Amino acid sequence: MQTAEVPEPSGEGCEVCGTEMYGLHCKLICPNCGYRRDCSDP
Ligand SMILES: [Zn+2]
Repeated sequence: MQTAEVPEPSGEGCEVCGTEMYGLHCKLICPNCGYRRDCSDP
């Protein structure tokens, strides 16, 4: 059984480039520019 962590679409756009960000654990990560945001931030 593989337990690879697959980011899930967060439905939120990147603040920098507008690409849909992906959520991994409690982080939002932009696959386009690499911008990341902690999901606890406002
Ligand atoms: Zn971005």
